[in-house]
Amino acid sequence: MTTGFYSDERTFWHSVGLQALFLPVGGWVQPPSGAAGADTPDSKRRLLSLVQASGLIAKLRSRSAEPVSEEDMMRVHSRRYIEEFRAVSTAGGGDIGDHAPFSRGGYEIARISAGLAKAAIDDVLTGTVDNAYALCRPAGHHCLPDRSMGFCLLCNIPIAVEAARARHGVGRVAIVDWDVHHGNGTQAIYYGRSDTLTISIHQENCFPPGYGGADDRGEGDGFGHNLNIPLPPGAGDEAYRYALDKIVAPALERFRPELIVIASGLDAGAADPMARMLAHSETFRALTQRMVEIAATLCGGRLAVIHEGGYSEALVPFLGHAIIEALSGCRTEVVDPSLDICVAQQPGEAMRAFLRETIDRLAAAAG
Ligand SMILES: [Zn+2]
Repeated sequence: MTTGFYSDERTFWHSVGLQALFLPVGGWVQPPSGAAGADTPDSKRRLLSLVQASGLIAKLRSRSAEPVSEEDMMRVHSRRYIEEFRAVSTAGGGDIGDHAPFSRGGYEIARISAGLAKAAIDDVLTGTVDNAYALCRPAGHHCLPDRSMGFCLLCNIPIAVEAARARHGVGRVAIVDWDVHHGNGTQAIYYGRSDTLTISIHQENCFPPGYGGADDRGEGDGFGHNLNIPLPPGAGDEAYRYALDKIVAPALERFRPELIVIASGLDAGAADPMARMLAHSETFRALTQRMVEIAATLCGGRLAVIHEGGYSEALVPFLGHAIIEALSGCRTEVVDPSLDICVAQQPGEAMRAFLRETIDRLAAAAG
């Protein structure tokens, strides 16, 4: 099994400016001491560091990638948005959307981030690698065609998927989003289309606020090709595995994709500062192993994992490392030192039963 791994140092130089968690400094928000913002480079850079320190990098086919082109971006974004993004980035940075600040040069870095996703999908489709992991930053799944949002400046996965469609003619694509926040950008782009199944498993009412949740099923030709799985805060290892088996796997079997892409945010991890879930490294290892099996059965193993959010600098490296081990089939000597405490923090039986009932209800509605 050859796993491709895509990263670029420049993506760690993307800056959201001075923030306390996700709150811009000013007014009643005191400037933090040190890097107190949520979207710091270190959760992602420390994953890369762990992949290098563990020796896993030597088992992967590792490279950077070209930035996406204007043509690539225009398949998904409006010209007005791209031109405004470029102009503000050149002029020194700012925020032209909703909680999505960037500094000078953010435009160029976002194009590299999307380029990593594009390269990962391209290499999977050409058979250069069996599966792939793109360590993208900034993330992409909240970004809308004409508006940035939630730390997301370009729609990384749709840009990459549409580039793959233009180049390889790939038809049916499934995008499974397990970032703890709703994949609203991806949903919006594919809402009326039947060639792309979008599934988002996320914490209910976390971010962005005010979307329609499980009732959002798509429209027109796309009806039935969008699935939301909103879970209550506190869902943990068992709930995530159960939701994958009860809802995600059957939906993929019905859809018969030619390619599966995972929008892999790691902010459902316990201790993430931007959500309230209790997944841990063995959760993500198990989910990934299951997705590898599903991809092998349905689409010749064609699976690309694209990094989205995840803000715990301490834990994200272990979550991502477990995913890449599962993709590549290479187990290193790395032991997640947080695993015992995360396992001990899982919900009790009453809450687990409630979560299973919730998921059964969502599965019945989705089926
Ligand atoms: Zn997220």
